[in-house]
Formats: sequence, structure tokens, C-alpha cells
Amino acid sequence: MANFFGYFSNDIGIDLGTANTLVYVKDKGIVLREPSVVAIDTATRKVRAVGAEAKRMLGRTPGNITAIRPMKDGVIADFDVTEAMLRYFIQKASQSFRAPPRVVIAIPSGITAVEKRAVMDSATHAGARKVITIPEPMAAAIGVGLPIDEPAGNMIVDIGGGTTEIAVISLSGIVFSKSIRVAGDELDSAIINYMKRAYNLLIGERTAEEIKITIGSVFPLEEELTMEVKGRDSVAGLPKTIHITSQEIREALSDTAATIVDAVRTTLERCPPELSADLVDRGFVMAGGGSLIRGVDRLLSEKTGLPVTIADDPLSAVANGTGAVLNDLSWLMENV
Ligand code: ADP
Ligand code: MG
Repeated sequence: MANFFGYFSNDIGIDLGTANTLVYVKDKGIVLREPSVVAIDTATRKVRAVGAEAKRMLGRTPGNITAIRPMKDGVIADFDVTEAMLRYFIQKASQSFRAPPRVVIAIPSGITAVEKRAVMDSATHAGARKVITIPEPMAAAIGVGLPIDEPAGNMIVDIGGGTTEIAVISLSGIVFSKSIRVAGDELDSAIINYMKRAYNLLIGERTAEEIKITIGSVFPLEEELTMEVKGRDSVAGLPKTIHITSQEIREALSDTAATIVDAVRTTLERCPPELSADLVDRGFVMAGGGSLIRGVDRLLSEKTGLPVTIADDPLSAVANGTGAVLNDLSWLMENV
């Protein structure tokens, strides 16, 4: 079918997340989901590994290799590494393509114009024939199926690794959005600090994330959980095992959770009254891996008084949104 760009063949959508990158191939769906991590040889600057393989190296690298998360805080820390990562993912997803792909990339809404340009250039260097960016919360809202083109308030809260993105959308435009650099990573850091303070136990980021996923919560649980944790005793210097409870971890996470609650409340306060009225009935939808932390919907619902729904597959929402716009690139050209 011909349209705005001519003949469609092999278009891809990318969710360039701070923690995970997903690639959606038109008519196929999500074909790749890997951590946004690159392992670099410090001497030669050569890329040693990308994605899952590189993530396994985080915190475990010898002196000559470093594992980097180039998008960690929702800003591009290292342009070359970001480009190397995008190239790897684009090439991996488009191996069987006969022509270079057109690419729709969802980028954090807090990114600067210079960084946005850099992402677009990187994708071009990586082999994209045409690059279009879309703000991440817009892609998320489309991905979870919100009727964003209606003249009504649609609100999305996307808690990722590095950033929480909150947006109110009406008539296919972002009315108000807020991006804060507090999300899943910050919850992990809070756990690391708690273990050090309460138990003199040093743990790494990966262990902290595992604790968060296994027993973490931000609202009291019907049945509290416990877990065994291994790390290094900061006093004795030796490996040590302890047992912790979900109540303790909830306490450790409470400040970070409160920051996210504040950001959601601020967004609601800035919302034009007619749209606020819509949100009373419609509430908002949560996406991103951070929305999987136990009780986050109940916490936010209690603190805002609004109905809160968690998307069916929150980790895929943004990628699915880019996939949806691949079918309608002319919509994207008009609206974003
Ligand atoms: P980004 O879009 O920034 O790449 P994602 O949406 O992929 O981020 O979410 C990654 C974050 O979600 C990480 O901080 C990860 O620890 C967290 N996460 C993933 N699964 C869970 C879970 N079951 N419970 C709590 N947090 C989770
Ligand atoms: Mg994301």
C-alpha cells in the first residue's frame, strides 16, 4: 500500500528505554527485548557485548572491561556507546530485511533537543533509512490502548528504570507532561543503602533489583514475604547471609515511592479543569516495569483518589505503541 512515505516494507519501532530496549517489527510484533547495557573494552573502546550478555557483566567486570548503561538517567551519558547499542539492536532486528528500515523511536520526554538529534543521527548511522521520534509517554498511551485522539483527558504514568514519565494527553497531543529521574533504579539504590545501614551488608545493583522484584512493595501486603540475601559484611569483609522481610523493604522504599506520588499529584494539579473532570472517572493507566512493584496501584489510588489500572503487559507498552504508529506513520507526522 502506498502512502505518505511510499511503499511500506520493513519498518521498525524501538523503545529506547533506560533499562530495556525493545524492537517491534511491523506485522511481526516485538522481536527483541534486551537490557540497555553495553560492555566496553576500556583500553580500545571496542564494544565487547550488548544487551543481556553485557548486563550479566554489570558489577562483575575486570579492570579492562566496563559495562555501561548509556541512557541510565533518561539522558544520554555517552553518545558513542548509545550509537553502538542502537546499531546492534537495529541490525539484529533487520537482518532479514532487503532494504534499510524506517525507524520510529520512543525517547524519554525529558531528553534535550541536542540529545534527540543525537539519537536520530545514531539511528541513521546505524542503518535507518528514515527516523522519526515519538515521546515515550505518547507511545505508552497508544500502546495500552488509551483513546488519545478523543477530546478528553487520558493520563499515563510510566515508571521505568531511570525515569518516571507522566503525561496527560488529549486530541493526540500532550497537554502536560512531567519526567523525573526517579524510578526503578532509585528503588534499587534505596535497598542497597538500607542493607548497608541496617545490616552492614554490601550488595550489588543486581541483588538489590532481585530483592525488589521478589519481595518489594509500596503498600502493605495481605501476606508479608521473607527472603534470604547474600552479600559482603562491610565490617568483617566476608560473605554473609541474612534474612529480610517485605515490611523492612517497604520501609526502605517509602521515600522513593513518595517522590513518585508527588510527581503524579503535581501533574494532576497542573491539569486543566475539564481534563481533571475526565480523569475523575477514567483515572490513569500505569506502564513500565516499575508499575510491577507490589501495591503501587493501591498507593497511587489512595494518594490521588483516582482509579488506577496497570497495563496488561506494562514492559511492552511503549514498544507496542511504536508498533501501532508504524501502521499509521502519517498520523505520526501530523501529530508528533
Ligand atoms: P525503561 O523503560 O526505563 O527501560 P522498563 O519499563 O523496562 O524501564 O522497566 C525497568 C524497571 O522495572 C527496572 O527498574 C526493573 O527493576 C523494574 N521491574 C521489572 N520487573 C519488576 C517487578 N516485577 N517488580 C518491580 N520492578 C520491576
Ligand atoms: Mg520505558
